[in-house]
Amino acid sequence: MEYQVLARKWRPQQFDDVVGQAHVTETLKNALKSSRLAHAYLFVGPRGIGKTSIARIFAKALNCETGQTTNPCDDCPSCKEVMAGNSLDVMEIDGASNNGVDQVRELRETVKFVPTRGRFKIYIIDEVHMLSTAAFNALLKTLEEPPPHVKFIFATTEPDKILATIISRCQRFDLRRIPSGLIVERLKEVAKSEKVKIEDDALLAIARGAEGGLRDAESALDQIISFKGKKIAEEDVLSVFGLVSRTLLEELAEHVLTGNIQSVVQTIGRLDEAGKDLQRLVVELLGHFRNLLVCLNVTELTETQDLSAGQIKTLQAQATLTNTDRVLRVTQILSDTLEKMRFALSRRTLLETALIRCARAAVVVSLEEVLEKLNTMRQGGQGGAAGATSAQPVRQAPPVERPQPSLNLDKKKVAEDQTAYTAEPTPSTPAVNPASDLARLQTRWEEIGQSVNRIAVMAGTALRDAKPVAVESASVVIGFDPEFASEATKFKVSRNRKALEHVLSTELNRRVTVDCRVLGEQAAATAGLAQPKPDESAPETGSSPIKTAAGKTGKKIKKVAQNLVRTPEVETVLDMFNGSVVDVRV
Ligand SMILES: [Zn+2]
Repeated sequence: MEYQVLARKWRPQQFDDVVGQAHVTETLKNALKSSRLAHAYLFVGPRGIGKTSIARIFAKALNCETGQTTNPCDDCPSCKEVMAGNSLDVMEIDGASNNGVDQVRELRETVKFVPTRGRFKIYIIDEVHMLSTAAFNALLKTLEEPPPHVKFIFATTEPDKILATIISRCQRFDLRRIPSGLIVERLKEVAKSEKVKIEDDALLAIARGAEGGLRDAESALDQIISFKGKKIAEEDVLSVFGLVSRTLLEELAEHVLTGNIQSVVQTIGRLDEAGKDLQRLVVELLGHFRNLLVCLNVTELTETQDLSAGQIKTLQAQATLTNTDRVLRVTQILSDTLEKMRFALSRRTLLETALIRCARAAVVVSLEEVLEKLNTMRQGGQGGAAGATSAQPVRQAPPVERPQPSLNLDKKKVAEDQTAYTAEPTPSTPAVNPASDLARLQTRWEEIGQSVNRIAVMAGTALRDAKPVAVESASVVIGFDPEFASEATKFKVSRNRKALEHVLSTELNRRVTVDCRVLGEQAAATAGLAQPKPDESAPETGSSPIKTAAGKTGKKIKKVAQNLVRTPEVETVLDMFNGSVVDVRV
């Protein structure tokens, strides 16, 4: 018997053989059972997931000589002709090669004639979006008033390119990418009947490479069998498709999460030298971190169709190394990198820089984390790293006459407080609402960046890695994550600074200056307490500048501030950041 490729040999012949599209096949079966049939159907979805297979099964079901059925017999002349592709009643047209209006006119001619054998004349038009506008218009005439014996089944990968008037006349079905679990199951079945021994990890690798397309997966298996014979290991699949092994991928992700830059660079070097597809690697890393995000945010991760037990175990272990914010930053950097990769001269360099950024972003403590820790401490809880000190009984803080500014840790409140204090000496300042100003700047940040970009390109670009963190009456604090500290220095250049100040002033409708800070420092400064310092100088405030109003009030506030510095809360914070008090602001 002539050799048949696996994808063809295993093409589903019954609705129940179709993998992963039950939402479509069940609906069609019900329609057949109840004879509620539309004139035209549209199957939408990526290539190789079963659109034309379902169309053919549906055609067989409509015309089977045993009667309209949900299980076509595959034995009658009508079924056999459809399978062989030579039925006179079921016509398959490839939109890609018959995109001319002439073909559609011809179709309109034949539509008039009654079916030769079956009950219906069925037109299956694949890649229907490729038809020219003239052809679409010609088709539309038929679709408006089709003879009762005519059915249209359209398939497309790009529904956006189809005229809305056509779509509105069709019953539309969206087919899904098939989960890797189901693809693996199917490939197992195929391998078994082909008497091929193949490792589970190898099957998973094929499924990964096929990205939800069963036909691609089957073709890949075919290719590997002809290449490697009847015994296939994961390594064979990886080498044929330039994929990276799951273990290596997980290791690389772990290096990123633990900030192990040396191992990150070494691994990329090894992969590049082994000729692995680096763009593909970024896609897979993104997939891994996406799974990690799910793992971090879903209480119980069960063995879903897309994750094997081994993968879940690794994800759970890696989840303990990180948190949602950090992983979100990593995924953001990776997706930016993926965009740039297509145009990159050296993918390796781009990937290295990106993963180094990821590794740094993954271990940097975010402002939110610091605030959260401090808040927990303030509420008397055991704030993470402060566990050691919290064991001591917390002494009552000395009485103070005003709310403790240094311990108002809610971000918005901090902004408000800061405004209140700075606004004090100049009561004539127009009323401002820092919280709403901040929210406004945050939501409009991209536009602001673009406006700045028009005045000073370098400044605009640098703003992409920054965000507004506080608004005061006459200034705006811009925060940079520590790994982007160098970007912050760009605003020391007068031209860049002025551009940003100009745009922000216009935005807020008042004159403001900018204060660019690196966020680790900002967190400490916002808390008004400590800044990490390499040397362990004593937490003395005597020599520190204390900015106050002059006179009696000034002395009083100074005293309160000094008392504040001696509270156990402050000491805990100093311990936590290995810092010292350099300034007390009130
Ligand atoms: Zn039949």
